Amino acid sequence: MRRGARGRGSAPASGGGRHGGPAMEWKVIPLKIDVMGVRFDNVTMDEALAQAVALLPEKRGAIVVTPNSEIVYEAMADVGLRDLLNGADLVLPDGAGVVLGSKILKTPLKEKVAGVDFADRMLQHLAETGGSVYLLGGKPGIAELAARKMVEKHPGLTVCGMADGYFRDEAPVVAAIRAAQPDVLFVCLGAPKQEKFMACHQQELPVGLMAGLGGSLDSFAGTVKRAPRWMIRLNLEWFYRLIKEPWRFKRMLRLPKFLFAVVRRRMRGA
Ligand code: UDP
Repeated sequence: MRRGARGRGSAPASGGGRHGGPAMEWKVIPLKIDVMGVRFDNVTMDEALAQAVALLPEKRGAIVVTPNSEIVYEAMADVGLRDLLNGADLVLPDGAGVVLGSKILKTPLKEKVAGVDFADRMLQHLAETGGSVYLLGGKPGIAELAARKMVEKHPGLTVCGMADGYFRDEAPVVAAIRAAQPDVLFVCLGAPKQEKFMACHQQELPVGLMAGLGGSLDSFAGTVKRAPRWMIRLNLEWFYRLIKEPWRFKRMLRLPKFLFAVVRRRMRGA
């Protein structure tokens, strides 16, 4: 599924050289980092956006996924989900847990690239370049509300269509997206439904890019508030979410389970 060369990058660092002058040591910066079986792109937010934008003109339905540690934990036991994630064109670490896991494994990712922030940057790009987005997912009415807020924030943005995520038959949804011909499709159905939808319909959807973004439309609509900035900065977004949505407790237990598994792997040196 992935196109283009992917390997290991390198950058010069200081050291002593054989020609007498100050030497160069080459520090290898991996382009892909494996965190418990999921291979993440080692990118900053700016790099993620640049790579995503470069995929747009191909119109081949390039896929972006944004797994957090809960989803990585699920993928550890679900090969199908893991393959779907690893088959995407861009795999972004949505969450402090994934970045912490990469550090514990001694292969640190550059930074967290939250799906909702990536989506917002993409909307800004589309607004500036006259591009369009199609919003799929959320409860009825959420995409409409999100679209209004998006256009308010990014004047010039074209939202060329939307549909809620509680459909029975996928065919009419796919047909509507095809007819709208968006540059970018936001697929906000929750994992793993959104990853399955994107992989299943990639051939039929000649969009520039589609991104699986979980509950991001709820955030854009304002029906689910994000944590205050200071909590995001301190990597406490998960704690805010737990207080606001305590019914997620069982699901959120996957975060400590994920970290425990990471520590175990590190101790085994595997
Ligand atoms: N959702 C949907 N269709 C479904 C199931 C879920 O559109 O069949 C939406 C749901 O309304 C919510 C999002 O998918 O907006 C999942 O949000 P959640 O916060 O659970 O996902 P996460 O961001 O944690 O992956």
